[in-house]
Amino acid sequence: MTVTRFAPSPTGYLHVGNLRTALFNFLIARKAGGTFVLRLDDTDPERSKPEYADAIQEDLEWLGITWDRLERQSERLDRYAEAADELREKDRFYEAFETPTELDLKRKKQLNMGLPPVYDRAALGLSDAEREKLRAERGPGVWRFKLRRERIEWHDGILGDLSIDAASVSDPVLIRADGQVLYTLASVVDDMDMGITHVVRGSDHVTNTATQIQIIEALGGTPPAFAHHSLLTGPQGEALSKRLGTLSLRDLRAAGVEPMALLSLMARLGSSQPVVLARSLDELAEGFELSHFGAAPTKFDEADLWPLTANVLQDMDVSEMADEMAALGVPEALASDVWEVARANMSRRSELAGWWQLFRDGAAPLVDPEDREFVEQAFALLPEPPYGPDTWGAWTNAVKEATGRKGKALFMPLRKAVTGRERGPEMADVMRLLQKKPTL
Ligand code: GLU
Repeated sequence: MTVTRFAPSPTGYLHVGNLRTALFNFLIARKAGGTFVLRLDDTDPERSKPEYADAIQEDLEWLGITWDRLERQSERLDRYAEAADELREKDRFYEAFETPTELDLKRKKQLNMGLPPVYDRAALGLSDAEREKLRAERGPGVWRFKLRRERIEWHDGILGDLSIDAASVSDPVLIRADGQVLYTLASVVDDMDMGITHVVRGSDHVTNTATQIQIIEALGGTPPAFAHHSLLTGPQGEALSKRLGTLSLRDLRAAGVEPMALLSLMARLGSSQPVVLARSLDELAEGFELSHFGAAPTKFDEADLWPLTANVLQDMDVSEMADEMAALGVPEALASDVWEVARANMSRRSELAGWWQLFRDGAAPLVDPEDREFVEQAFALLPEPPYGPDTWGAWTNAVKEATGRKGKALFMPLRKAVTGRERGPEMADVMRLLQKKPTL
């Protein structure tokens, strides 16, 4: 049974980088017929906010990424305390009292001597009396996990065989001086208790994985299969981290990106497979293979979302636009025709309003000075509505005869005068939907 999870901290809105992690884990579970858990990593009471927890769920729901179970770390603190006790009993946990300044000084000294800045385990050498004294002076210390200084090896689902020397890593702090359990421990306990079989996350977690493998083993568990996907960069390879705030799922949604456009891009970007618009998450799941992804940073260009969004709209049935049609007051009898004509000329849903407004009210004509007289003459030859499929042909023939203009010189000024734009649907289609006679 495959069980995956997406474990965001509710300290902000989800962005495209988070989506990649969520989607990969979701698709793996979906493809295997397994379970997908949404876990809110909310152990930090200061930074975690209920509104972000709600927003995460809304954003995932918007995309159709549904979860079989919701878990909150804040409800599992007792379990983490138990695991901490177990580590103490097994002599894999120790209290350390260095201040941040002292640790910084140690690191600087090590770096000056050309040594890796790894915590020197001074706290391990403290006698009981020394420890008591420090605790009395400084209050409770932090709790560090005692790594076994050996190579930690695993087969990564994306990066291949990895091996990290535990001696090059500091014993991780798992409990802060104020008693707050940190993610490294909480995550391991959850992954074990919830039967997580596969963990896919960003490559910024590779070192965490090494230490977490040892923690899982210390607690008597079996590590899940790990895979680390590359991080996203901007189109030129620039770091995306600073821009991620503007690439939140809510902003993309507000800008008019369609869910399947975003999902189709994110499910393939950085893989050897081409990005093609999928119809459903099931279709994406079917073709999803972690082994198709590479280790190199993945370039993300927001602009790629727009052609895909336009494709989604072109494939969309009018029934899916029922809410928009109703909100705009499009008469039911016209909705289907309006959609047929508009959809090929839209890059986002909200543009339907502009097309409907044109059909209903007409547009402010766009007329070049040299065409003014021609357009006046042409408009005089146009009858009052209702118009039909032959209106455009009959009208342009009459105008051609009266003015001698033909080809582009005939059609373009009329298009611009009727629609107020240079491009758009076939004019025969526009004319048949026009509810009012255009005027200058
Ligand atoms: N809450 C962690 C994060 O957002 C989860 C990482 C993980 O998947 O283990 O980075």
